[in-house]
Amino acid sequence: KKITADDIRKSVANDDVRFIRLTFTDINGTLKAVEVPNSQLEKVLTNDVRFDGSSIDGFVRLEESDMVLYPDFSTWSVLPWTDSQGGKIGCLICSVHMTDGKPFAGDPRNNLKRIVEQMKDMGFSAFDIGFEAEFHLLKLDENGNWTTKVPDHASYFDLTSNDESASCRRDIVETLESIGFEVEAAHHEVGDGQQEIDFKFDDALTTADRVQTFKMVVREIAKKHGLFATFMAKPLQGQAGNGMHTNMSLFKNGKNAFYDKNNKFHLSNTALYFLNGILDHARAITAVANPTVNSYKRLIPGYEAPVYISWASKNRSPMVRVPSAEEVNTRLEMRSADPTANPYLLLAACLAAGLDGIKREEMPMDPIDCNLFDVSEEKRNEMGIKPLPSTLHNALKAFKEDKLIQDALGEHLTQSFTSSKELEWSQYAETVSDWERNRYMGY
Ligand code: GLU
Ligand code: MG
Ligand code: MG
Repeated sequence: KKITADDIRKSVANDDVRFIRLTFTDINGTLKAVEVPNSQLEKVLTNDVRFDGSSIDGFVRLEESDMVLYPDFSTWSVLPWTDSQGGKIGCLICSVHMTDGKPFAGDPRNNLKRIVEQMKDMGFSAFDIGFEAEFHLLKLDENGNWTTKVPDHASYFDLTSNDESASCRRDIVETLESIGFEVEAAHHEVGDGQQEIDFKFDDALTTADRVQTFKMVVREIAKKHGLFATFMAKPLQGQAGNGMHTNMSLFKNGKNAFYDKNNKFHLSNTALYFLNGILDHARAITAVANPTVNSYKRLIPGYEAPVYISWASKNRSPMVRVPSAEEVNTRLEMRSADPTANPYLLLAACLAAGLDGIKREEMPMDPIDCNLFDVSEEKRNEMGIKPLPSTLHNALKAFKEDKLIQDALGEHLTQSFTSSKELEWSQYAETVSDWERNRYMGY
């Protein structure tokens, strides 16, 4: 439904909203906020809240640092918890503009809108996305800092478990519902302390916005329960990592353009071309989908995370899976992304790659019907199956060789993404770890 400026004015008055939190996302996917008291409401509603962009990662140089926030009214929500003074906080997700009113090219949200426009020019109406963002709940120490201790070792058979993490999870679900999320599933994941909460798919921009709000809510409610929530890709060595499976479909004339009941797997040619585009650009997409050093510690065999660039209808070892679903639910599930990805950059890259596939009209490789982890390297080479990049460094190399994925981010974001990630890699590369000392000190 459409939300107007007047609806927001009424909500501020009726819901005792004392502060308005204006959020946007930096290059690393971190949510940034400017909070203003309700006395500034008219400024908020007329795109007149300014901030200094020079201190935001991936934004601008000092001399051009003034930026303006354009709130998207449809994202209005009032957080159900109160601050210490008893007032509530209303939230609006914003696009970042320049002082002359032009959308700022370094804003990942603006960039996703740009790629969505390209999709519309090709005749599609929506890029629908369902995310499955996994996370861990961890215990705090006596100083309130995170530990690697998990609050539950809930046995799989203990269905009545009423531990800290189960009650925290229920609280998160109810909070999400109270701010308009349609939560479809919530469950304990494979790892100790690991959780998953899925909300209903929607168009790319809406879903990217929601996953940012989702993470904020998860962190906030975990804190309330004396726990720490992390979306790090692989927080606990030897245990399952956190994925953010990305379910994708394209709509045209109110119908799912990925569905064709007469084709194999009920996938249309459009879906297969799109899939081919994703697989062709997979190595460069990985830089965006798995953007941290730690992300690559998840992409290893044995934990339901993918390692190889391939697809399948049932098997979970390849990068893309086709879940069995019909009509509106027909989709491609990209299993490689993790929740440290900036959702706006991720969806821009996936959409651009898929649209490229549709333009080229080439069929993807044959689907896999075996567990790729049991196949020898020789056999995999024969099958033409390449691995995903094994490190952030290798993914960045692939990104720098893929003009199409760079164009999907645009010049400004490509530049700030590569420089930020290269710095991250070089800091990691020069770190001497305990593993190294333990292994090599005796040499
Ligand atoms: N946690 C797994 C991952 O790292 C995914 C488990 C699942 O299939 O939901 O991607
Ligand atoms: Mg899962
Ligand atoms: Mg999944």
